[in-house]
Amino acid sequence: MIPIARPLLGKEEIDAVTEVLSSGMIAQGPKVEEFELAFSEYTGCEYAAAVNSGTAALHIALLAHDIGKEDEVITSPFTFIATANSILYTGAKPVFADIEPDTYNIDPEKIKEKINSKTKAIMPVHLYGQSADMKAIMEIAEDYKLVVIEDACQAHGAECLGKKAGSFGTGAFSFYPTKNMTTSEGGIITTSDREIAEKSKMIRAHGSRVRYLHEMLGFNLRMTDIAAAIGLAQLEKLDGFNASRQKNAAMLSEGLKSISGIVPATTRKGYTHVFHQYTIRAQNRDKLADFLKEKGIGTGVHYPIPIHKQPYYMELGYKDSLPISDKAAEEVLSLPVHPALSRDDVLKVIKEVKEFYASA
Ligand SMILES: *Cc1c(COP(=O)(O)O)cnc(C)c1O
Repeated sequence: MIPIARPLLGKEEIDAVTEVLSSGMIAQGPKVEEFELAFSEYTGCEYAAAVNSGTAALHIALLAHDIGKEDEVITSPFTFIATANSILYTGAKPVFADIEPDTYNIDPEKIKEKINSKTKAIMPVHLYGQSADMKAIMEIAEDYKLVVIEDACQAHGAECLGKKAGSFGTGAFSFYPTKNMTTSEGGIITTSDREIAEKSKMIRAHGSRVRYLHEMLGFNLRMTDIAAAIGLAQLEKLDGFNASRQKNAAMLSEGLKSISGIVPATTRKGYTHVFHQYTIRAQNRDKLADFLKEKGIGTGVHYPIPIHKQPYYMELGYKDSLPISDKAAEEVLSLPVHPALSRDDVLKVIKEVKEFYASA
């Protein structure tokens, strides 16, 4: 079976974890601080605050910017549920703007249509490892005085016009095992704003910077030194992982381009796509997925139901018409692209997709 995702963990990660376990200091400690420094440097930000999930990173980033009740945050409906849920946790309202049909990222023009006096922030998602149009989004944010929180949970190392995802506004990354790098569970907030960094670190630890002095309401959302040690080893390998993803993606695009019935993944000019997913539009999507499964190839639908159509959001009264997201949800299919694939694996994926459309 060729899986849709697989983390690559080696001796470096095992040794790093063993070192932490042997030290006896296994909660948040020096490794977390080391990881924060390394990750902030990687993204070109001045600060980072490590936490225990990408969801926590999004939630904390919103709270650090004082977003809450009565506020609206404009985001994409075509993403993992955590994006919008993090907004709900704060008491604010997620407002959905439709996506671009080629990149599946939030459409800046549609963002503008949703801005009103309650709008406080924009939360673009860098879906599948390709940055949203941050040039246009930062211009809108400046014009309307809005905060930008980037959901960079799929975009470790991605770039937009030479600048890293997560360094435009306040960034939020996930280190879940399927992501481009992992810490097992984990996440991080990136920023060059000292106050946001400090607040984020307080919110993750019960609102305190000095032990047993609590200046605000916080949570326990800390990362452990065990996770940070894995993260440090993975960060060393991240550029190599991304290069493998890009190579696999290039092979897929070349191999799939002549098949009528599918639209291969596209990379926008001037962007560095890190292919968290390699996602095509496919005619007979579900049949293709079943066919590939029979041939031993795992695929994924990211995502089958846009957030405004999720049962819980319908209950909240969402009735948006977001046709580009709705159509994408019916047509997209992610093919294996991760760095654990061999060249033969990628060739097999191409061969079987061709086979499906030849016999369809
Ligand atoms: C993975 C992911 C998250 C959530 O990260 P967790 O670490 O699983 O909490 C949020 N947004 C997007 C787009 C993601 O892919």
